[in-house]
Formats: sequence, structure tokens, C-alpha cells
Amino acid sequence: MEWKNIIESIVTGGLHFLFVPRCLACNALLAPTADATAVSNCFCSLCSNSLIPVADPRCSQCGELFHSGLQNHRCCACLTDPPDFVSLHAPFEYGGALADALRKFKYSNATYMAPRLAALLRMLSLPTADAVVPIPLHARRLRTRGYNQSALLAQSLAAQIQCAYLPLSLRRQHTVDVQVGKKKAERIQNMKNAFAIVDPKHRLSGRTVLLVDDVVTTTATVRAAAAALRHQANVSQIHVVCIGRTVSNT
Ligand SMILES: [Zn+2]
Ligand SMILES: [Zn+2]
Repeated sequence: MEWKNIIESIVTGGLHFLFVPRCLACNALLAPTADATAVSNCFCSLCSNSLIPVADPRCSQCGELFHSGLQNHRCCACLTDPPDFVSLHAPFEYGGALADALRKFKYSNATYMAPRLAALLRMLSLPTADAVVPIPLHARRLRTRGYNQSALLAQSLAAQIQCAYLPLSLRRQHTVDVQVGKKKAERIQNMKNAFAIVDPKHRLSGRTVLLVDDVVTTTATVRAAAAALRHQANVSQIHVVCIGRTVSNT
């Protein structure tokens, strides 16, 4: 075999190795599948077993899981202090292999995950929208991390559903204190005025928007972002879309 062919086979083999799909959580090799939205395109069978699809009954607005009751209805928080988003859509509860994958996606430069994670969102019956907007990072945090995982997710989703992607219309005003360990009311206060609108051409006015985040925990962040979109940019309808929704124990 000539050197040229040897080098070519090494390069081809390396590329094949690199592009064989692997489990986003444990890195196991995956069998190729023609269905981009299939869970098996992201996770091996072992990791798939740890995924918990969102189930009913839950709040029809914020997606909070009810531990009792029969039907979906609005939770107490949404009735007393309605968020500015209409609905929240997530394919899975946050936990297990999904949490492992999302941690890698967020903190370990695993940006290659974005298209496959976005494809999981297409398992959902997403409302028809005019634009996809990600939850932004503050510029300082963006510089430190190098990328915004929610923006990558939103960009991939927008491309896959052929919808406008408007990442710069929502801006993080200031860095917020770390949210972990804070009570729900503290998180909401912490997020107040965290977002501002940059939409000089009024492209969002009167539109329906999918607001994308990777994980939604207390809804404090998406509530604050939706409030800015609704009241500062005159967005008509906002639907929150995320990969993982945490379950509270209350
Ligand atoms: Zn796995
Ligand atoms: Zn609710």
C-alpha cells in the first residue's frame, strides 16, 4: 500500500471513529438510526432506562409535576402569580443520564451535542412559532465559558424546525447570585430585572416565541425572561421549551 493510501485510510478511519454516534452520557457506541428524533440517537439502552419522560398530572402552564390528582390544571403559583409564558414543554424530567449529558453539554465544551439534543425537543408537540429565542448568558459568563449552551440548543432547534433564530433580542442585564440552594422566592427576587430587550426593529412585537433553556428548575429564570419579552418587546405569546424539567419535592 502506498503511503498516500495508508494516510488516507488512517484519516478515513479516524473520521469514522470520530463521527460514529456515541451515547451522550456514557460515551458507549450507538447503532445508527434513521430517526434523528429517536432517544436511541442520543443515549444507549442502559442510559435510556434512566430517562423519565414527563408525565401527567402536572401544571398546564409551568409544567410542575403534581404528586396527587388526576388531571392537568394550573398550580397554585401560576394561579396567584401567573407567569408571562403560556406553557412549558419538556420531554424529560431532569435526572439520571440526562443530567450527566446536560452537565457535559454545559461545562465540558460538549457543544457537538446541540443538534442531537435539539432533535429530542422535536418529539414534543411544539406550538407553531415565529421565532426561537434562547435564555442568554451574561457577557462576562459567556467569556469565561466560551459558549451559551441554551443558545446552541435554540439555534439547532430553529434550524431543524425552520424558524427564525433571534439570539440577541434578549440580553442578560447583570450576573445573578448563584441560584443553587436558594428558596423559590429568593430565586425569583434574585432574577428580577435580570433581562433587557434589544429589538430596535421590533421583530418580536406581536409574535409567538419559543423561549429555550437547557434545564428549568424553579421557573424563576424563564419567568423573568418571559416578563421582559412580554412587557418590553410586546411579544404576543411565549412558550418555554427545555430538555429537562426538575421535579420539586413539595
Ligand atoms: Zn449510555
Ligand atoms: Zn404552574
